[in-house]
Amino acid sequence: MQKASVIAPEAAPRAFAHEGRRRISVLGATGSVGTSTLDLIARHSDAFEVEVVTAQKNAAALAELALRHGAHLAVIGDEQAYAELRARLAGSGIEAAAGATALIEAASRPVDCVMAAIVGAAGLRPTFAAARAARRVALANKECLVSAGAVFMSAIKASGAELVPVDSEHSAALQAIGGHDPKSIERIVLTASGGPFRTWSDAEIATATPEQAARHPNWSMGPKITVDSATLMNKCLELIEAYHLFPVDADQLAVVVHPQSIVHCLVEFADGSVVAQMANPDMRTPIALSLAWPARMAAPTARLDLIRLGALTFEAPDEKRFPALGLARRTLELGGTAGAVLNAANEVAVEAFLERRIPFPAIAALAGAALEEAARTGQIREPVDLDDVIAADEEGRALARGLLRRYIVS
Ligand code: NAD
Ligand code: MG
Repeated sequence: MQKASVIAPEAAPRAFAHEGRRRISVLGATGSVGTSTLDLIARHSDAFEVEVVTAQKNAAALAELALRHGAHLAVIGDEQAYAELRARLAGSGIEAAAGATALIEAASRPVDCVMAAIVGAAGLRPTFAAARAARRVALANKECLVSAGAVFMSAIKASGAELVPVDSEHSAALQAIGGHDPKSIERIVLTASGGPFRTWSDAEIATATPEQAARHPNWSMGPKITVDSATLMNKCLELIEAYHLFPVDADQLAVVVHPQSIVHCLVEFADGSVVAQMANPDMRTPIALSLAWPARMAAPTARLDLIRLGALTFEAPDEKRFPALGLARRTLELGGTAGAVLNAANEVAVEAFLERRIPFPAIAALAGAALEEAARTGQIREPVDLDDVIAADEEGRALARGLLRRYIVS
């Protein structure tokens, strides 16, 4: 089957062909990516206006963002927080709503761009809604591509929406590929910082705490992706994300550890050329690109000073100490709903680790065990639609919860 991809040189970018300010909805507005997006939009208020902002629980933070950015609608996922949201927006003229259905309706508003920055599989339905209604989906929610892969890419294709990745490595790949013939791509190499435990021994990693996992050396991000970066599950998810976004096979994807997080991705071409994208690690650069693409807009990221940096270093990833990385290969080999199972099991495992119920190495072990259990019991199949993906996500969660007790420390 011909894979859909975001690289389609024959299709000239159609989005934003109109004059006037572009209307943007920010899903997951209170998060790390959400607030960076709103920060950029505020710096370019002549070019953008905010339609919708959403969050899950924090009504105070959501109301504050809605008021500051003049949003038209603010939606809180947690219905218990609705009264507070309404009270805080009273008299502002900003609409308020709550609940899972309201989130989907909000994501379905026809806008120029939806920033899909909800964390985890919780973002699936709203991101699919955005794919149907928006001219462009700026995709931060990598779990959507990992879980729904081909189903999501066909939803994008069917609606004619533009998909622009926000993840820094995939933003970098998009730029490196540029107008080159996709057939001339030999490999896409994602860089990984290596996370806070890059130089730790097995014994040290075995006792790593949530506080230690939270100390990412280069990036400031939400709690879940920060743990994913420590296990290198983040890079595993990103390999799967890259597989779905770009016109390459699984064996054309690789990872190199680059502790400075300056080079974000390298694309190797048939003639031996390697095109890389560099920037200081600040999500406002890839977010700006996702809003302005194929143009560029100013972002306040500190300028790169290679002379001051002096050296960029690269090393091989160690799958023995970081077995999560190898799960990408296995997931792509199994195909179908394997991504949904892996992602769901990882979410269960990360939560259990943050609650101090399982040790750090159990995160990758549990995710891998759930994946193998799903394969062994014949639960992996080709999903036909989003409901099927969500059913597989639930199966993955159930498998992981069932296996969890094996890893629980008393
Ligand atoms: P975060 O935890 O800082 O923010 C998550 C946002 O999602 C919040 O607004 C929260 O209210 C909302 N949310 C949480 N649970 C929800 C639910 N059940 N229903 C609806 N909304 C919910 O996360 P983040 O770091 O901003 O990451 C967001 C997404 O972007 C993730 O998928 C992550 O992998 C991806 N991403 C983040 C970064 C980064 O630098 N932070 C980089 C690349 C990709
Ligand atoms: Mg990334």
